[in-house]
Amino acid sequence: MRQVDGVKLLERLGDGVKELRGRLTPDSPMDRVTWFRAGGLAELMFQPHDTDDLIAFLKILPEDVPLTVVGVGSNLLVRDGGIPGVVVRLSAKGFGQVELAGENRIKAGAICPDKHISAMAMDNGIGGFHFYYGIPGSIGGALRMNAGANGGETRDRVVEVYAVDRKGNSHVLSNADMGYSYRHSEASKDLIFTGALFEGHPEDRAKIRADMDAVRLHRETVQPIREKTGGSTFKNPEGHSAWSLIDEAGGRGMVIGGAQMSSLHCNFMINTGHATGYDLEYLGEAVRKRVFEHAGVRLEWEIKRLGLFMPGREVEPFFGA
Ligand SMILES: Cc1cc2nc3c(=O)[nH]c(=O)nc-3n(C[C@H](O)[C@H](O)[C@H](O)COP(=O)(O)OP(=O)(O)OC[C@H]3O[C@@H](n4cnc5c(N)ncnc54)[C@H](O)[C@@H]3O)c2cc1C
Repeated sequence: MRQVDGVKLLERLGDGVKELRGRLTPDSPMDRVTWFRAGGLAELMFQPHDTDDLIAFLKILPEDVPLTVVGVGSNLLVRDGGIPGVVVRLSAKGFGQVELAGENRIKAGAICPDKHISAMAMDNGIGGFHFYYGIPGSIGGALRMNAGANGGETRDRVVEVYAVDRKGNSHVLSNADMGYSYRHSEASKDLIFTGALFEGHPEDRAKIRADMDAVRLHRETVQPIREKTGGSTFKNPEGHSAWSLIDEAGGRGMVIGGAQMSSLHCNFMINTGHATGYDLEYLGEAVRKRVFEHAGVRLEWEIKRLGLFMPGREVEPFFGA
């Protein structure tokens, strides 16, 4: 049963869209975007050509139309009923650049893959970016999630962030404005990050290369990186690691429909073939229940869940969101 209607929404936007240079796609399948390869339709996908085009679009978008921004979908679970309103996905052409911006500084567009920053930093002897080498997301996702690994986090490197709000106004946020904590930013949900300036420190290239190789080797050994996955499902609760709680509660390898807690890293969910958004979310909630009953710890989702349930296929949260 169709819950979103992109053609109707596009009609509602009227002639203003003719001036846009980016791509508008009604009823765009999100299973082509998410790493899980699951989820319903984006009612209307907009891929702005550049920042001016994004601003022009936001200025004609009626206030009551919901707006969601996605990166490359490596931390997203999209529900099967789809995402109502507009989904903004930044284009690589307008937002994928990465360049040196002064001593030990790198500027990157928000859809630039994290990996490209690591590579540029290594080529130029700038230390502090090796951790991005193993994170498969984009800079926009890293800025929102305070992505981190292997002893480094986005907040350690951010100087300033460029963003556009729902009304099309531009903003520059300082590191403090981003309000970072573990896998979280307090920056307004209303903001679309368009890029950021980062700073590292001088470091020997061979040392950076060795750190990057260590990141790659570690991931290949302990994470199901070639599977359809969304990375860590739950945040590590204070004083615990999520995977060991799941393991001890008997969650390793647990299956619901086409969704499974990976046997290699049991805080990673994987789509074993034909998982739906429902399978994945139901499995996640079932794991939260098990861990709570076994250890009394409340796991909190790290993966962002977006969109509507299919009627009759709702997943009740075991506790809180
Ligand atoms: C195999 C694997 C390993 C992973 N390992 C790690 C890891 O070690 N450490 C780690 O931190 N994460 C890890 N992740 C999770 C994920 O890669 C990161 O969270 C990443 O930063 C998400 O970026 P993305 O572009 O995929 O964002 P998406 O998944 O598309 O979106 C994530 C969130 O960011 C928001 N967002 C995206 N772009 C923008 C933007 N331009 N402006 C505003 N908001 C935006 C979205 O609205 C959403 O809330 C892993 C994932 C996988 C699949």
